[in-house]
Amino acid sequence: MPIKCMKCNRDAIIFQKYSGMHICKRHFIEDVERKVKLTIRKQYKIEKGDIIAVALSGGKDSVVLLYLLHKIFGVRRDIEIVALTIDEGIAGYREETLAKARKLTSELGIRHIVRSFKDEYDKTLDELTAQERKLGACSYCGVLRKSLMNKIANEIGANKLATGHNLDDEAQTIMMNHLGGDVDRMIRLSPPREIEGLVLRAKPLRKVPEKEVALYAIVNELPFDMSECPYAHEALRGEVRDMINEFEVRHPGTKYSIMRGFDKTVGLIAKEYPQAELSKCRICGETCTATLCQACKLLGRS
Ligand SMILES: [Zn+2]
Ligand SMILES: [Zn+2]
Repeated sequence: MPIKCMKCNRDAIIFQKYSGMHICKRHFIEDVERKVKLTIRKQYKIEKGDIIAVALSGGKDSVVLLYLLHKIFGVRRDIEIVALTIDEGIAGYREETLAKARKLTSELGIRHIVRSFKDEYDKTLDELTAQERKLGACSYCGVLRKSLMNKIANEIGANKLATGHNLDDEAQTIMMNHLGGDVDRMIRLSPPREIEGLVLRAKPLRKVPEKEVALYAIVNELPFDMSECPYAHEALRGEVRDMINEFEVRHPGTKYSIMRGFDKTVGLIAKEYPQAELSKCRICGETCTATLCQACKLLGRS
């Protein structure tokens, strides 16, 4: 006999150990959407006239994010959603995810902007990382992708830039910053504030566990790509992920409590902690904390 949903007696499709609930497909979808709406209302205040740029990689997180934002705001004519995809130039990887991303935006009828490292920086990520370098490929990719996203978002007049970070990503990042004693990064992770030149970052999925993002994509039959980026990921993040997952099994709710504690205290830390002055990069004009932005530094521009 299948286990029943605790809300309606249909067959359950998931057991949320942290809430103690067995829930059916309908109530699962409702639960995910409630969490996302709550996050948006409390942290990101979407308003009339907003242009929301959505970072769309084609993986499950960004696909669910775009689908949900379209579901929530698609009916509003005073809000525009635009998908942005960056083609980093990773042979054998990006082609597939790009195809999935295109499929989704055309199904939903959403404007889709695709830009490449090659066009922007004259080299693909493969070419950039084949050169002599001090940092891992993910550092290059992360910095350049962020910079390019912000640039495009500014170009189209977007005032929000939404990314698909889920609860697991957030808990890992918070824990990594603690382990590294990195207060600057902790503050940068805090709820967004208005900074001239930087498009406001929003992470509407931050209260949804990774497993549930994947399940949401599956039950809604969304086209998403499951291939892993061929570049090795940050080693520390993998260790922290395993550690948190082990804790979560023994102490359900750990991921939420890591985030809750952080959300409650970060504002106070930010008030007391001196923050870097912002200026404009003298090469590309992006807003940054030095005379040269991270992207220009990595590209060896001077
Ligand atoms: Zn139900
Ligand atoms: Zn620059």
